Amino acid sequence: MSDTFLRAVNGAAAERTEAEAPPSRGAVHHLRLPDPDIAERYFWLETIVNQIPDYIYAKDLDGRFLFANRAIVADNHLNDVSELIGKTDFDLHPAEAAADIARTERRVMETGEPDLGIEEMSLGSNHERWLMMSRVPLKDMFGRTIGVAGVSRDITARKSAEHLIEIQSRLLEKVAEGMELAEFLEEVAGMVETRLPGIHAAFFVCASDGSELRLAAAPSLPQALVDYISVVPIGPDAPGCGRAAWLGERIIITDVDFSRCLRGGEESYRSAWSVPITSAEGQAIGTAAFYSPNVMEPDKHHDELIAVAIHLARIAIERRMAEDRIRFLADHDTLTGLPNRSMLDRSLKEAMQKAERKRTSLAVAFLDVDNFKLVNDSLGHASGDELLKVMAQRMSDFLGGWGRVVRVGGDEFVVHMLIDDTSPEALHARFETLRNRLAAPLPIGGMELQATCSLGIACYPDHGRTPSELLANADAAMYHAKASGRDRLAIFSREMAEKARLKLARTEELRRALKLGEFELHYQPQCHLPSGTITGAEALVRWRHPVDGLVPPGAFIPLAEESGLIAPLGDWVLEEACRQARAWQAEGLPPLVVSVNVSPRQFRESGWVEKVRQTLDRTGLAPHFLELEITESLIMEDMAGAVERMNALAALGVTLAIDDFGTGYSSLSALKSFPVSRLKIDRSFVADIPRDADDMAITSAIISLAQKLDLSVIAEGVETEAQAVFLLQSGCADMQGFLFGRPLPVDDFARAIKTGAIG
Ligand code: C2E
Ligand code: MG
Ligand code: MG
Repeated sequence: MSDTFLRAVNGAAAERTEAEAPPSRGAVHHLRLPDPDIAERYFWLETIVNQIPDYIYAKDLDGRFLFANRAIVADNHLNDVSELIGKTDFDLHPAEAAADIARTERRVMETGEPDLGIEEMSLGSNHERWLMMSRVPLKDMFGRTIGVAGVSRDITARKSAEHLIEIQSRLLEKVAEGMELAEFLEEVAGMVETRLPGIHAAFFVCASDGSELRLAAAPSLPQALVDYISVVPIGPDAPGCGRAAWLGERIIITDVDFSRCLRGGEESYRSAWSVPITSAEGQAIGTAAFYSPNVMEPDKHHDELIAVAIHLARIAIERRMAEDRIRFLADHDTLTGLPNRSMLDRSLKEAMQKAERKRTSLAVAFLDVDNFKLVNDSLGHASGDELLKVMAQRMSDFLGGWGRVVRVGGDEFVVHMLIDDTSPEALHARFETLRNRLAAPLPIGGMELQATCSLGIACYPDHGRTPSELLANADAAMYHAKASGRDRLAIFSREMAEKARLKLARTEELRRALKLGEFELHYQPQCHLPSGTITGAEALVRWRHPVDGLVPPGAFIPLAEESGLIAPLGDWVLEEACRQARAWQAEGLPPLVVSVNVSPRQFRESGWVEKVRQTLDRTGLAPHFLELEITESLIMEDMAGAVERMNALAALGVTLAIDDFGTGYSSLSALKSFPVSRLKIDRSFVADIPRDADDMAITSAIISLAQKLDLSVIAEGVETEAQAVFLLQSGCADMQGFLFGRPLPVDDFARAIKTGAIG
């Protein structure tokens, strides 16, 4: 050890024999050894300084080494410090680097300012190495600068970790910015390859069904190998990556042989390490593979970097999966997994293009499950859902790869498929097969259900050249199928288009008529036979059409129902009937109960009960002068909802009658729980009295049912005295029909009452 150094660091403890003399270069070897105490300290100091892995050195004013600890000696491939003493950095390092050091050290010596904690790239080593340098001026005991002392520490590991973190965050930013997955994985592979020279990286992503891996990035692999491993099956016996994904464990192979797929001259590999990339839930979502031309296993350094690469890849793949899922949810139906309405247009356009390319046709079928609502209402929504799922599956199975099924609404689907023969026979044959498969019994909610459906078919290009035209025409055909009694299919025809067009025009006319006030109410009397009095009048709507004259309700009510116009029309009828009834009372006519027909759609309208209350308020009619006629089917469609509404209406004080009784499917047991006060026997049972014994039996059964349930009863459509006599004898005292009076315009009705012409 150099005594100058010792003196410099040990200051006052050093002997002061040369206290007055200025220090001279090279005159440092003549110090006498200190006393034994100092010798011991000297021993410890030397031991410590040499065992510390950091570099510790001192140089004189000319940059010549005065001292260097063992770390420096060894790193410069020397055996002893004596080989270093007297040398400068110019003897050890390239001139440029040595000059840099000399410049810094000179500045420290000249200014007397230390240079602390400076990070520098190390010189001379063949791999990247970082040092943290601190240099202080070396002073003698008189405070004169006699050189420079330096300490430096190897911070390569810290620098490398910092750099890795920097790269990670830069890459993660790219994920956040939405960089393409393949591009991102290439960057990760690039990162691995720069930091692990000689290693080539590749990334695979699992297919959505988990059956195979697809190569997503392999920037440095030879093309032939890229082609060879572009798809790798996943399984226990699959090659490297496929097995790693299957087991969820890494597979290290050090004797790979790609000679079969690689051409001579291309880089070959001896080692392949396959590492699974697993999701947060532990599911394999991809793998990474690392190839080396050498026979080797990953060491600690490799493991660290592989862990970082896997982490980054996992984040990016999971993000892509989440995006895919969101995209899937946006255009798929969650219940059935089928594409939804938002995909319909695209799906049809693609199919049309395909048909063009293959020079064939495309059949587009609108499909509606018959009476689905009934299943939903009677068996519950879970059963309804199950039914739809099974139907969807059956449709997909039927189509195989030949077409597509899209769920466009609750129980509505669009099926489209390529078809060569678009003759009605061929279309019937094909789609009846589908209907039959759908109609196969299905066990749902503990019972065997059979769901039928109605289908409307339109073909490209014969029946339309755009998706919307095809759909509109398939829809028109389906409407036709439904109107013809459901459970059937209909193929679009020009006549249907004409019908649909007329319907549309008629709906528009209806809308206009509503605005212009072209509707009027006619009133038909209801009589109580024993007393010979008129107890009420049924309000029946008519359309005074500017060209067609007086149009009966049968010709426009269904259309109003379908188009939703029934709601404003029904509102008008209710208001007008109540207003009229009140006006007659004001005129001094005997008070009559006015009966108003209520359509199912109107009845289901939310807030309708409140509307009735407001109408009564506005018109001033007492509630017990209003009778609302509802039908059995309306009640049965949604029994719970209907009963709730009926109760609310009864609470208002209005009375309820079941119209056309006997034609629907009322549950007789439920009837007693309905808050209705009267049954109206449908006129179809009355018409053939007294010729038809069955009708007579039914009629008298209804009458006695009403009596047992403590309901009043009225017969409709009474045209003959024989009918009236039979009804009276059977216990039905109230009647309505042409025998007593036809529906009359308001003035005629009032006049007839006043003059006693009816009643
Ligand atoms: P509905 O409620 O059963 O009305 C009775 C129908 O039978 C009326 O036909 C009436 O003219 C007819 N009728 C009455 N007595 C006799 C008879 O002795 N012999 C024959 N052959 N027919 C008779 P209209 O006025 O054509 O009404 C038909 C249906 O239109 C009504 O059947 C009702 O369901 C519906 N309707 C009428 N007005 C309205 C309304 O304002 N709103 C709703 N939603 N439907 C209405
Ligand atoms: Mg009626
Ligand atoms: Mg009726």
